[in-house]
Amino acid sequence: MKINSETKLTGIIGYPLKHTLSPKMHNEAFRALNLNYLYLPFEVTEEMLVQALAGLKALNLCGVNVTIPYKEKVLPFLDEITMEAKTIGAVNTIVNDRGRLIGYNTDAPGFLLSLKEYGIEISGKKILLLGAGGAARAVAYALLTAGAELIIANRTKKKAEELAEDFSAVGKILEILELGEDPISLQSYFMAVNTLPLGMHPYEHQMPPVDFTGVSSDFVAYELIYNPPETIFLKMAKEKGAKTINGLSMLLWQGVLAFEKWTGVTPPVDVMKKALGISC
Ligand code: NAP
Repeated sequence: MKINSETKLTGIIGYPLKHTLSPKMHNEAFRALNLNYLYLPFEVTEEMLVQALAGLKALNLCGVNVTIPYKEKVLPFLDEITMEAKTIGAVNTIVNDRGRLIGYNTDAPGFLLSLKEYGIEISGKKILLLGAGGAARAVAYALLTAGAELIIANRTKKKAEELAEDFSAVGKILEILELGEDPISLQSYFMAVNTLPLGMHPYEHQMPPVDFTGVSSDFVAYELIYNPPETIFLKMAKEKGAKTINGLSMLLWQGVLAFEKWTGVTPPVDVMKKALGISC
């Protein structure tokens, strides 16, 4: 990779960023297309967030991804936010358009592209969404705009109720459930999406309280976690013959969309998949 005065800079801001896979995914795609771009991880502390955003303009970066814990916190400091990102309440991609910072959410359309890749059609289907945090809001927006009917289950029921209220004009939310110890039977669902941290460190030996008994072979278990690549949730689903998708797929497709926004070029998806360790 040649770095010179023409090199365009992108990256990711978040904290911590030790395990981020995005620099590898984007840099290998830039290299494959011979684009003079570079993607760097920027660990930003909360006190420095506003300065970091001003720095994007000062140093003329093309844009950045935004990750935990800043996806919601950056909103007041941007010059423009797409309607989609505003409704979701989270920005995961910023484009520096000649000194104006524009906030996008590519998690939601990225989630839909991952379903498309697997040939999964969700319009009119009943789907259980586990969680009501930032990622759940992006997934809910995606599912509702694609015509799915949602049941949302969360430990803090009030948060799920707030989500349902915010999204009442977007699509059909059938019910809100409080997630307790009693498992939710998945038998009558087409798909369940886990946005809870149960399954990743330090909860790697746990799974959300759901029961896969009686699900059909068309049932889809979608997990947002990608480390480990197979959580207990996915393992149990697979044992019952269901289809499984892990979080690498959404990570890939949100990245594809961010790449396009920064460069105006369609990235080599196979190169990005390889960088993430997804078998093509
Ligand atoms: P968040 O806003 O903090 O929300 C966390 C959610 O998990 C809330 O619904 C919370 O419930 C619930 N929760 C947390 N600890 C719990 C526990 N011990 N037991 C039961 N429920 C618990 O986080 P987020 O931004 O939505 O991220 C969620 C996950 O999605 C993370 O694992 C993140 O890495 C992943 N993610 C993946 C991608 C991807 O591209 N694959 C993209 C975005 C996010 P309460 O409301 O009760 O607190």
